[in-house]
Amino acid sequence: MGVETDVIIVGAGPTGLMLAGELRLAGVRALVLERHPQPRPTPKASGLGGRILDVLHYRGLLGRLEAAAEGGYPPPRFPFGGVHLDLTGLADPPMRALSIAQHAVERMLGEHADALGAEIRRGHEVTGLSQDDSTVTADVRGPDGDYRVTARYLVGCDGGRSPIRAMAGIDFPGTTFSEVNRLAQVTIPESVTILPNGDLEIPGNGTVRSGFTRTEHGMFAVAAHGGILYLQSTEDDPADYDSDDPLTMAELGASIRRVLGFDLPLGEPSRLSRYVFQDRQAENYRAGRVFLAGDAAHLFPATGTALNCGLSDTVNLAWKLAAAVQGWAPASLLDTYHTERHYAGARARLQTRAQVALRRGGDPAAEALRDVLTELLTDDPAAHRLGALVGATDLRYPTPETHPLTGTFAPNLTLHTDPDIVTVAELMHTSRPVLLDFADRPELREVAERWPLRVDVFTAKTDNPPADALLIRPDAYIAWAADFAEPAETAASGFHRALSTWFGAPMTH
Ligand SMILES: Cc1cc2nc3c(=O)[nH]c(=O)nc-3n(C[C@H](O)[C@H](O)[C@H](O)COP(=O)(O)OP(=O)(O)OC[C@H]3O[C@@H](n4cnc5c(N)ncnc54)[C@H](O)[C@@H]3O)c2cc1C
Repeated sequence: MGVETDVIIVGAGPTGLMLAGELRLAGVRALVLERHPQPRPTPKASGLGGRILDVLHYRGLLGRLEAAAEGGYPPPRFPFGGVHLDLTGLADPPMRALSIAQHAVERMLGEHADALGAEIRRGHEVTGLSQDDSTVTADVRGPDGDYRVTARYLVGCDGGRSPIRAMAGIDFPGTTFSEVNRLAQVTIPESVTILPNGDLEIPGNGTVRSGFTRTEHGMFAVAAHGGILYLQSTEDDPADYDSDDPLTMAELGASIRRVLGFDLPLGEPSRLSRYVFQDRQAENYRAGRVFLAGDAAHLFPATGTALNCGLSDTVNLAWKLAAAVQGWAPASLLDTYHTERHYAGARARLQTRAQVALRRGGDPAAEALRDVLTELLTDDPAAHRLGALVGATDLRYPTPETHPLTGTFAPNLTLHTDPDIVTVAELMHTSRPVLLDFADRPELREVAERWPLRVDVFTAKTDNPPADALLIRPDAYIAWAADFAEPAETAASGFHRALSTWFGAPMTH
């Protein structure tokens, strides 16, 4: 059967839209099928943080998000479970965060994918799929009736309930937590006074602490910023509600009353949402020609991690799918998507599960755990280490190569060539693999000539080079590095091995 596109993407959430742009950058056709006819206004994430901001910078997209962000970069200070992680005092913070509504991220990613030529069909629901040795076919229910579409690969970016995951027969083991979180942003009512330390003075009910208040009925968190109260009420044993109904002010007010024991005056809402946490990960991110990315592949039991992880999935997957479509992928390349991104998801589960333990429990032992961690986090190296884990900026993909830089994200070095100066970020706009040769090594250029057009070679100087040479993949992770003054023969054979591993057989002999 002939294919009508290269890759079908199911779902036009942030993951699907980012993947569409990445696939187009890598030069393959992408068709996005989204069941809803219009983007939905449901408030979800209110920010992006961690490694994905560097990736977006490397694609030239960060400036567009910054322009749409509310208040630019807030200081990197946020709750880690029931303790505060404050990175503001660190000389070299391990992660950054950008305050921006998810719908603004989706709009930018959609416009970007569209401008690059991805086809996005809204109002088209995938109802079935089948695959054979060379193609995958989706059954689609569209506005004009049912039809089928066939491609080389299909990626389920269809969210936590992922019908694609079920159709592909991939298990999604894990836990759904009973606690219900109700999240709101409201204006500060006249009757509430914000004290200099951020606490709230409530007429007739004393003060409510800025940050967390734990009671025997749950947890309440509040912060005042720019005339807005950001609040969350968490209950383990919530009163009845229907998860399909949107959160109302009445339901929120009743929840806060149960947790705090009194009515908290609330102003006008600009955001209301309710969610429960899940801790789940797909057993395999691949079943033949079908792949999973984003929430379809993983759900984490704490906020602030899902988008970073999901969007990073797509950057890892797109160039590998493109290599397979274009016919030069080494046999095992597509399987490295699971190996690398399942590992990244497991790291994200590690820190979000730890947050579950840290926010639960009002008994003295749980309080002691939070106090000990709070004390440890006053040490800069400890705060740095935890921030890097949360932002996944410490991620090192499993790699057979021994150089400590392999598997890590390429730093944004400034590169000098006469007369130009460029940065690694600028080089990565096109999503092409590049060899950065800092030591002008002819043996590496000679090897690269056997992969013409597949790998760019850039001979340049940089201050304090981290190695003699770096081979950077399209997702900006380092595939191979030459040690300082490594003998020409071993450097050439290591480089040859890495090119064969990641970029296929040599094109010339
Ligand atoms: C209240 C709330 C707060 C959050 N806060 C944060 C936060 O602070 N930080 C963070 O990182 N994350 C946060 N998240 C999580 C974040 O919103 C998700 O991780 C993100 O939406 C996942 O994106 P996705 O594209 O993988 O899936 P989704 O956004 O769920 O998109 C999946 C898409 O697939 C479509 N689809 C499903 N089935 C089909 C089908 N059969 N055919 C066609 N289309 C289909 C759906 O309609 C949907 O548009 C929050 C979520 C909620 C609810």
